[in-house]
Amino acid sequence: MQQGQAWLQRLGSAARTALTVLYPWRCLNCSACLPSDRAFCLKCQGWIQSVHSPLCPRCGRPFASGVGPDHVCPQCVQQPPSFRSARAWAAYSTSSGSPQPLRQSILRFKYGRNMRAGKVLAGLTARHFSCAQGQDAGPAEDYDRVIPVPLHLTRLRWRGFNQSLILARGIERGINTPVDPWLLSRTRPTQPQTKLSREDRRANVRGAFRVHTPALAKGKRLLLVDDVYTSGATVEECARTLYQNGARSVDVFTLARVVDL
Ligand SMILES: [Zn+2]
Ligand SMILES: [Zn+2]
Repeated sequence: MQQGQAWLQRLGSAARTALTVLYPWRCLNCSACLPSDRAFCLKCQGWIQSVHSPLCPRCGRPFASGVGPDHVCPQCVQQPPSFRSARAWAAYSTSSGSPQPLRQSILRFKYGRNMRAGKVLAGLTARHFSCAQGQDAGPAEDYDRVIPVPLHLTRLRWRGFNQSLILARGIERGINTPVDPWLLSRTRPTQPQTKLSREDRRANVRGAFRVHTPALAKGKRLLLVDDVYTSGATVEECARTLYQNGARSVDVFTLARVVDL
């Protein structure tokens, strides 16, 4: 019996080696071969700017100075967000001329429908959410449900999957908290936010979400997951809707954050 198990282990190891030779791990950005199961090569990894203190404890905006304590940013003082806190793993600028491996990988996943990228990005989301949870300024509590930011049905049909749900599934496995993909839905299609001003973004998503069964939101500690935090208008509206339906707390985690707005 033990001999049989050892033989199976050897066979499994040989099969993994053969698969690695035939289908090597590749950098999500530049496709360079990687020696192990990593998302990016060292060169591309070097271009990724992780978000760290000092930052705004509400919206998670990192401060360019890079020194000093965390403090609430002027925007959150002026107009506090509905969600309790938002955090992201890494930040990028859409106007920067430097390479943006994370942004390119997210675009490849969302618009190129590259599901290998999705799987790897889900793993990164889970890993870095757990890291953020362990930090002083990060989300610290347990959650009852993980909620992906929903797509409208027309967008879902076009893309074939909800990228936020795939990332949320990564966190689900990481913290052993179930995803509820049905609690929150998008009731109308909204224009892509990328070319809109901050105010137009808020108006664009106003009233666009609905809680399907309010009893399932009432008193719950919810973690809202999205791929990118741009102006925060989408997660703000999702959180507002969840609180209106009795949620006890709503925190936000995104894989990336745009910092040039
Ligand atoms: Zn690379
Ligand atoms: Zn803020």
